[in-house]
Amino acid sequence: MTRQQPGQGTTYTCPMHPEVRQAQAGDCPKCGMHLVPAGGQQQVSTYTCPMHPEVRQSHPGDCPKCGMHLVPAEDARR
Ligand SMILES: [Zn+2]
Ligand SMILES: [Zn+2]
Repeated sequence: MTRQQPGQGTTYTCPMHPEVRQAQAGDCPKCGMHLVPAGGQQQVSTYTCPMHPEVRQSHPGDCPKCGMHLVPAEDARR
């Protein structure tokens, strides 16, 4: 029997080239970057202020303390 992940519909995309989409992991044909799972949504879920790391919210916006544009925070889990 062939092992398959049922109903997984995962799509992989290039962080630099959102138009690149394929059904399995690999490298971007345009820049060679490792493709990341797209899952239909951006992986970034937390936004933070470069000046105020304690500021965290789940959507883009401005820092309530200094008004700077919030940037996507990378998950720091290891
Ligand atoms: Zn690319
Ligand atoms: Zn700030």
